[in-house]
Amino acid sequence: MSINMEEEWTIRMSYLLNCQIGVIPFKYLGMLVGGNHRRVSFWQTLVDSLKKKLAGWKGKWLSFGGRIMLLNSVLTSLLVFLLSVFLAPKNVVRSIEKIRRDFLWGGCEDTRKVHWVNWEKVCKGKHEGGLGVKSIRAFNLALLGKWWGKLAKGDAGLWSRLIKEKYGAGNDSWLSWVKNGRGEGSSWWKDVCRIDVLGDNRNGWLSNGFEIIVGDGDGISFWWDSWCKDGVLAHKFPRLYMLSAGMDYKIKQMGVWIEDKWRWMFPWRRVLLDRESQARKELEEMLEATKLHQGRKDKWDWKFSMDGSYTTSTGYANLAASQEQSQKHVFGRVWNPNAPSKVCGFSWQLLLNRIPTKTNLFKRGIIKDPAEVMCSLCKEYMEDCDHLFLSCKITTEIWNRCLNWWGVQAVLASNVWDGFRQHEGIAVSKRMRVGWEVVWFALVWTIWLTRNEVLFNNKIVDKNKLFDLVQVRSFHWLTNRGKVLRYSFSDWLLNPHLCNVSA
Ligand SMILES: [Zn+2]
Repeated sequence: MSINMEEEWTIRMSYLLNCQIGVIPFKYLGMLVGGNHRRVSFWQTLVDSLKKKLAGWKGKWLSFGGRIMLLNSVLTSLLVFLLSVFLAPKNVVRSIEKIRRDFLWGGCEDTRKVHWVNWEKVCKGKHEGGLGVKSIRAFNLALLGKWWGKLAKGDAGLWSRLIKEKYGAGNDSWLSWVKNGRGEGSSWWKDVCRIDVLGDNRNGWLSNGFEIIVGDGDGISFWWDSWCKDGVLAHKFPRLYMLSAGMDYKIKQMGVWIEDKWRWMFPWRRVLLDRESQARKELEEMLEATKLHQGRKDKWDWKFSMDGSYTTSTGYANLAASQEQSQKHVFGRVWNPNAPSKVCGFSWQLLLNRIPTKTNLFKRGIIKDPAEVMCSLCKEYMEDCDHLFLSCKITTEIWNRCLNWWGVQAVLASNVWDGFRQHEGIAVSKRMRVGWEVVWFALVWTIWLTRNEVLFNNKIVDKNKLFDLVQVRSFHWLTNRGKVLRYSFSDWLLNPHLCNVSA
């Protein structure tokens, strides 16, 4: 078979090696090799064989328990093989699940069966009240997680070398280039990079499971990898990062060994000013606890297994656990009936960290200069979702004013996701809930519009106006839907929690 070779050359080689010329795609073990795995047709043989296999048990008297065992055990060979190489398209997953579901609730007969418990529940672990039947989607992701595990191991295996050559790690650690490598490469590689954000809800089920064990610091990006317990240093010390003459340095490049002692040496673009030196001191104090080890390789340990290696079962468990955390609940609530649908759509993207903040644009290579990622509002920290919508001093003030307005005491959450759930939790009565929930939408929406005004039209942030807008918008949305009954705007401003809102 010729790959990137001229025909004539191929023919010559086939004579030389005395073999036949094949063409892609061809069938091997019942699957199309070289076919497009994003197509349903690629998976058809497999789906059919699964159906046939389960149908073989038709009419045999199997206990319910026996059927459950069978469901997990037919996930053998071919299916596992395919699922550990390719990300199955959604509708393929759906048809496999359907075959299994029907089988569980009454063999394979074509008559309609009652499904006594919903499938999601069935797929939960036994101690959580499920049956421990594997969810194909999660199983698929967990199997693909092995590719990440291989890279984490950093063995110079042919495969990881190949991948690195091809998709270019540059000076980045494997984790950051896999995480940010979604844009380029073959569809297969894109899928592998993507699995981290495909856990039903929350991003990072895979990437967050790896923990960096610092060795000689040769494989870890000083500013961008999350290697010390205080998180990513570029986020923690944005000013220093901007001033650093080694923005893409590995840890190892940020100091020297003097005899057996490691000494940090930070190269700066210019002499640091007072406040900046203060920050440098803080950074140094923070790093005091870190120990580098000469001649020992850096390690990326998978937190959930004993020996630090990724395994499918721990990956699966972690994925299932992260899906547990009432994430579905949040995504159900984000489509608030009282907020305009475009605002709900925006909030949904926000919770998925899929809005064009400067940091996100930087990660995708749209903003090239790292000096341009500072927050549009305060210009002091990097603009990511958590900062812009929560921890920015301007945003924080607006949040606090909203809390005051409603007479609520709370400490703000540190990330958007927790913030959303916390906000919901604050509503003590049903009466309060409808109005209060809309405030969250009005607030994030207003922050975003203000940020755009500042960024694109050079407007100056007016905190009073910002807060007014939140109040006006929330009232407007509620009345617009006929939800506020006999309640004036001034009542809304004075006693929002007494506002009689029909649910
Ligand atoms: Zn800010």
